[in-house]
Amino acid sequence: MLTIAARWVCPGTSPPIANGCVSIHADKIVRVGGDDPAFPVDLDLGKVAIVPGFVNAHTHLELGPIPRDESTGPENEVEWLGRVIEARRDAPEGSTPGLIQQHIRSAIEGGTTTIADISTGGQSWDAVAASPVWGTVFAEVLGLSESRGRQTFDAATQWLATRPRLEQTRPGLSPHAPYSTAGWLYRAASEAGVPLATHLGEMPEEREFLTTRSGPLRRFVEGLGAWDENWTPVGPSPVDYLHVSPSDRGPDWIVAHGNIFEPGEFARLASFHDQPFDRRIAVAYCPRTHARFGHPPHPFRGMIKDGVVVCLGTDSLASSPSLSLLDEVRFLHRHHPDVGGDTLLKMATIHGAWALRIDDKTGSLESGKSADLAILPLADPALEADPHGWLDAEAPPMATMFRGKIVASQWT
Ligand SMILES: [Zn+2]
Repeated sequence: MLTIAARWVCPGTSPPIANGCVSIHADKIVRVGGDDPAFPVDLDLGKVAIVPGFVNAHTHLELGPIPRDESTGPENEVEWLGRVIEARRDAPEGSTPGLIQQHIRSAIEGGTTTIADISTGGQSWDAVAASPVWGTVFAEVLGLSESRGRQTFDAATQWLATRPRLEQTRPGLSPHAPYSTAGWLYRAASEAGVPLATHLGEMPEEREFLTTRSGPLRRFVEGLGAWDENWTPVGPSPVDYLHVSPSDRGPDWIVAHGNIFEPGEFARLASFHDQPFDRRIAVAYCPRTHARFGHPPHPFRGMIKDGVVVCLGTDSLASSPSLSLLDEVRFLHRHHPDVGGDTLLKMATIHGAWALRIDDKTGSLESGKSADLAILPLADPALEADPHGWLDAEAPPMATMFRGKIVASQWT
């Protein structure tokens, strides 16, 4: 048994505890609370906050940075997509496995203990499975034409069929996006009985493409030779793509971005209200990626008000400066200082765990859950009175713990 104490303990699912303690036995939390003589403190960490390990609900570990010229203002997202494809094509042969390893490490150093990764051919599986994180690896499927779609779907289903059953890592599927992926692929993925992720409501051009079959995204797919004259959209709204399965027992979806959803669509993103445990949809908002492309303000406030579960992702280094979910939530705090620290912490932790159906194991500091936590500096001695003073700090976590073991630390 190990009991650690800190100026603040923020469990995530209950109010912050001043001068709180977390007691850990083996890989589990056994108690969270104030000082208790029955649980003598082994290590008082002092002026820090202990928070649950972060859940990165959307990333692509295989992608490296795409430099950005900030002097020219926000970047055009369709042009950026072209640059991502070029960078992938020009990546040195055999460099990706090393990059994936490096990116997992930096995510963990940022306090992350759960990663949901979209991966070409599921190639990040071995690295994620060997790392100290709860992982979901989604093999990407795409293609507007029948033949291209069939090729990626057959490869992904074969990959799924050969995944071993692991406690820490689960496989899923990711139909890429409505402008690249035919409706039948969304339907087939929905019926596979695995976790799902997709990019929806990412940019205004997507809706134009779905309603008119034209615009910059049409020119983009034509330029890649991927356009299919027989293609028709599932519907005029990107949200229609979540409702392609005829089954009542809908699949679980992580919806990456959701930048451009309209208030009238929120109810269809919150469909879990009808079927509390049969269907989970969550929007993974990626704040720094959203900002890079100069989209209209993200509708996360309206979504939360209407019952949509909003979690957070970093997206990849191709659009974001780091894979630290802590950096992402601090950015959100700086730009939306009126959103409470308790809400931000939930978005960064338990909401993502809920979406991935691992909220019984992780995502908050509660007795019986896995001992997954981040130890964070507080901004300033004056902010010691603020349980969420860690949002105002700039330094990275002092340590990350996963299943009761320190897996990254500035102390060594
Ligand atoms: Zn993405």
